[in-house]
Amino acid sequence: MALRATDILTQTSDGLYCPPGGFHIDPFRPVERALVTHGHADHARSGHTHVMATKQTLQIMALRYGEEFAHSTQEAVLGETTRIGDVDVRFAPAGHVLGSAQIVIETGGTRLVVSGDYKRAADPTCLPFEVVPCDVFITEATFGLPVFRHPDTRDEVRKLIASIALFPDRAHLVGAYALGKAQRMMALLREEGYERPIYLHGAMEKLTAFYRDQGLAIGETIKVAASDRAALKGEIIICPPSAMQDIWSRKFPDPVACFASGWMRVRARARQKGVELPLVVSDHADWDDLLRTIRETGAGEIWVTHGEADALVHWCGTNGIAARPLHMLGYGDEGDEAA
Ligand SMILES: [Zn+2]
Ligand SMILES: [Zn+2]
Repeated sequence: MALRATDILTQTSDGLYCPPGGFHIDPFRPVERALVTHGHADHARSGHTHVMATKQTLQIMALRYGEEFAHSTQEAVLGETTRIGDVDVRFAPAGHVLGSAQIVIETGGTRLVVSGDYKRAADPTCLPFEVVPCDVFITEATFGLPVFRHPDTRDEVRKLIASIALFPDRAHLVGAYALGKAQRMMALLREEGYERPIYLHGAMEKLTAFYRDQGLAIGETIKVAASDRAALKGEIIICPPSAMQDIWSRKFPDPVACFASGWMRVRARARQKGVELPLVVSDHADWDDLLRTIRETGAGEIWVTHGEADALVHWCGTNGIAARPLHMLGYGDEGDEAA
């Protein structure tokens, strides 16, 4: 007898659990066996006994938590199918950050795809999202409202370069999350021909070095030393969003506060955070790309993990697709745009 989708993947207080496979996906608490979609802290937590993830996600977890982040690890090779318990599992690129993957679970002719976080926009720092046809597509909805339509990132990066030309005496402080967004901004700047060294907050260093080791074109970066700050007129400094408001940011020459985030689409949010130059650059799908992706998977059923689930569930209903919100509150806490 064929299993129902809800028998293959059930919601528990630790997150999504696959009973026939005996594993959790991106669990909130330490578990016996975790399959992890990507390295952001709300999805990749430490303390699991066994972790399966892409090589890059395992490396990112080791950088963040130390080599002993799990008792044992298993590398998931993209596109390769692995039998776990009574299910077949395969990882497919999610286009979110370096190493990010969707997890495809198949058994008895039913296929579910847990997409983790994902985007469809081009990103020079990771593999593009792969559409995997499935019966049940499990999606995030961080930007699941029609108001969220992300612009072309190239235009946003050109705004930053134009601002430096306009204000050569001011430092440009760019708030960006330490994993993914910061390195994507560096790569996008290089694509637009920006060749000057890019200055980094110390919190960005390890992950940026990792991206460089992976062969990504992020160019020259220099860690900001306390003594140099006053000399950084007309330079770009990338720092975690939390550093924008603290004393760390005060010693730069007349800084222009910039913030690279999908949330910058909301002007009130930019104003409230004191952002002078909002840069709408997101690592999550916007409204149009959420809808496009749902259609392209051909899924008859959609489960929405987190974010603006209501509008997306409603849209599915009016388009003849069964959908339900999972209200998974453990995601979007940290390190990610939903913070
Ligand atoms: Zn993420
Ligand atoms: Zn997330």
